[in-house]
Amino acid sequence: MNKKFTAIRGMPDVLPQNVAAWHAFEDIWRKLISAYGYEEIRLPILETTGLFKRSIGEATDIVEKEMFTFQSKDDKESLTMRPEGTAGCVRAGIEHGLLYHQIRRMWYMGPMFRYERPQKGRYRQFHQVGVEAFGLSDTDIEVEQLLLTARLWRELKIDSAITLEVNSLGSLEARRKYRQILVDYLEKYQKDLDEDSQRRLVTNPLRILDSKNPAMQDIIAGAPKCQEYLDDDSVRHFNDLLQRLSDLGVSYQVNPNLVRGLDYYNRTVYEWVTDKLGAQGAVCAGGRYDTLVEQLGGNETPAVGFAMGIERILLLQEALGIESQTAVDIYFIHAGAKAERECIRFSEELRDFNLSWRMIVHSGGGNFKHQFKQADKSGAKIALILGDEELEKGAVSVKFMRAAEEQLSISRNEVKQFLINHLGR
Ligand code: ATP
Ligand code: MG
Repeated sequence: MNKKFTAIRGMPDVLPQNVAAWHAFEDIWRKLISAYGYEEIRLPILETTGLFKRSIGEATDIVEKEMFTFQSKDDKESLTMRPEGTAGCVRAGIEHGLLYHQIRRMWYMGPMFRYERPQKGRYRQFHQVGVEAFGLSDTDIEVEQLLLTARLWRELKIDSAITLEVNSLGSLEARRKYRQILVDYLEKYQKDLDEDSQRRLVTNPLRILDSKNPAMQDIIAGAPKCQEYLDDDSVRHFNDLLQRLSDLGVSYQVNPNLVRGLDYYNRTVYEWVTDKLGAQGAVCAGGRYDTLVEQLGGNETPAVGFAMGIERILLLQEALGIESQTAVDIYFIHAGAKAERECIRFSEELRDFNLSWRMIVHSGGGNFKHQFKQADKSGAKIALILGDEELEKGAVSVKFMRAAEEQLSISRNEVKQFLINHLGR
């Protein structure tokens, strides 16, 4: 036998039995995001490596160690499989003149790639949905995006397991000042810092606050808080945001150690977190990034956005016992060549009438017993049966597959109404 191929580590298949949950998520998402007037943008997976270095930041986990990067075939440029969507979205917005003097609300969905240690809820190919709004500097846009995510959790029935943590990083200048104050504090504990934090002390000290290592928690708890070093405008912005959230009944927790791992954020940062997924508890993360557009060569444009990991949302639904419908509605059984022909014709008539009933017409032959087994396996609620007897009478037999009821016979012209009564439109 030839050697079998297997999937690349950390790049899981989504199997047919799991796809229903993805569809359910995507359907809810599309409906909800269009209700808020956001437009979809579809972006390429490959971008120039420099785009991510300049936006996410050289000294971040993503750029330092998580990117899938390789040389183009002609060896002229370095390419990277996108680890996130914001950089590409901003690049496209500038390139196509979508941002200049305009207000834009956009969203995207698709695979992202990060070279991480694979575990439950953490993969090397995973999927994000994200939104970005450009041209708005007031807190109303943060509030809009938080309201729409809160609504999403309710629609997905996971709102009871998710909480919102917010923080403000202040202006870039305030952040720079705070960075020095933090470094001065951390240097006193240099010997006690773990290896990651030792490295970050030089490259990205704010990220140390985000460490999940229990041994680091006392040092982190004693660190000066960036809240105390915010510029006045950022303080006003943050207070305004918190006030609006309270007025609208959106619960939140201020987490002074929330810094986010990417360089481009200023002022507002937030995460929606759950305690049901262990170390993979961040479900959705976002914030304001008012300088990124300029940094990538565009005009000064305020911006706010977030991204969520679809796999983590589906894992959370699974942990809460929320199931999505995978089964078909109808399994159409038939016996004999003539009945088979009529069955195929009639099934097309039913699809002309209502395309939202999910129906399998049996194929592959076999007797009634075999076909009923297949019908059962399909999870169908209803089996329709067409044999010689039914053909002669102009009827169809019906069996409820999930109930202990007798098979019944109905005339062909009653079938549509019967299905509406039992399956809806
Ligand atoms: P974490 O702290 O868990 O590594 P992150 O801060 O790196 O998350 P972001 O870059 O903010 O994550 O990405 C936004 C969202 O994308 C996360 O909240 C998470 O839901 C999801 N996500 C990020 N990395 C992965 C991954 N490797 N596998 C699955 N989902 C991921
Ligand atoms: Mg990460």
